[in-house]
Amino acid sequence: MMQATLKDTLVFEGIGVHSGEVSKALVHPEKENTGIRFLVKGVYIPASYRYVVSTDHSTVLGFEGARVSTVEHLMAVLYMMGIDNLTIELIKGYEVPILDGSGYYFYKELKDRVYTLSEPARILSIEDRFEVKNCKAYISAEPADAFEVIYTGYVKGLIELSSVNYSGNIRDVVFARTFCYDYEVEYLMERGLAKGGSLKNALVIGNGFVYNPEGMRSKDEPLRHKLLDLIGDLSLIGCRLKGKVSSHLGGHSLNYELVKTLAESSLSTISTSSCVSTPW
Ligand code: ZN
Repeated sequence: MMQATLKDTLVFEGIGVHSGEVSKALVHPEKENTGIRFLVKGVYIPASYRYVVSTDHSTVLGFEGARVSTVEHLMAVLYMMGIDNLTIELIKGYEVPILDGSGYYFYKELKDRVYTLSEPARILSIEDRFEVKNCKAYISAEPADAFEVIYTGYVKGLIELSSVNYSGNIRDVVFARTFCYDYEVEYLMERGLAKGGSLKNALVIGNGFVYNPEGMRSKDEPLRHKLLDLIGDLSLIGCRLKGKVSSHLGGHSLNYELVKTLAESSLSTISTSSCVSTPW
């Protein structure tokens, strides 16, 4: 499996779901072993768990006073497409555009632009089973022959406790939009979050129904979105993963705990020299 980048520079523009401001990102190709990094106000921020500064309703990266929010959907799509090297330059705003709330538009624009490089991809193999926990939520990681992610959860009154999985087919998760509950909207706004949220970029869930007139894109769309978030957060390990990750009611904070544990323990090995280098 080889590393990849893009054939040419690409632009994503749209509102940031939390900031409510228009963001514009230029996505530039990079050479082997650069990794994925953001460039905000002249500061490079590697797309690495080491630079996570908040996991409150989205994953936020920061370094030297610069920050970039809501990186997880784009990161998930890049990971699933096997794209390892890019600079994502924010020339307006400090949040990755939410677009339709899923990974679909990123995928649509990226899919015919993948460029294979001449260095092998770095792969981190999970060697031992372990678990991270927070109250009722837990996530386990265990050895497996390939990368597989499972999310188990429910949406009160709408989706019973069930599991969805990703084992290589991007179409299983890329369409699933972000969501929130109607009772959360006011609370999020009070905290300065979701200022750009609307029925155009999020599913809003009431008691047993959704407010979006078009309904859900699949009967388990919110669970599949949680899977998208998990893949995006896992990608912050900085290389590809070999192993099975199973989340039971987990979210960004616990995803982060898992990634940190995996990267900083002896529970895994890396097939080539090291993870994508981050000299900053
Ligand atoms: Zn999300």
